[in-house]
Amino acid sequence: MDGDCIFCAIAAGRAPAEVLFEDEETVAFLDINPAAPGHTLIIPRRHYRNLFDLDPEAGAAVMRTAVRVARALREALAPDGMNLVQANERAAFQSVFHFHVHLVPRWLGDGIASPWRQRPASAAALREVGDRIRQALAPGGKSEGQNP
Ligand code: 5GP
Ligand code: ZN
Repeated sequence: MDGDCIFCAIAAGRAPAEVLFEDEETVAFLDINPAAPGHTLIIPRRHYRNLFDLDPEAGAAVMRTAVRVARALREALAPDGMNLVQANERAAFQSVFHFHVHLVPRWLGDGIASPWRQRPASAAALREVGDRIRQALAPGGKSEGQNP
């Protein structure tokens, strides 16, 4: 647990939150600055900065809760769709450094824009970046190891 972390405080019940669901490993609560009605955050109770140090089992628990809460949001609010969003480090607009996923209910014409622009790449460019990533994924690479 990180003493300065607001999401650790919410998980421990030391800070207020509109909690929707909790189990042994995860907590789901409403975002205080909702992009849309029902905008929900799901966290592991344990503190991980982000995806790069997340225990995959904790990630699986977060995803189980996300599936459950997404279905409840759909039943309760009848959105046309939903985004599952997750940010890692400031460059990717992470602002709270305790791993979390966002569920953002979406309605056609709600005006929420995609955060990226799509640009076609050549097969050669895709191959080149693919080679670098496959090398990092190869047995013995860092991606295989335990959490830092
Ligand atoms: P990030 O940009 O890191 O993916 O998103 C962090 C989210 O946490 C933001 O959408 C922000 O509104 C939300 N947030 C920050 N502090 C609090 C808080 O104290 N309580 C709740 N419920 N949400 C928070
Ligand atoms: Zn924390």
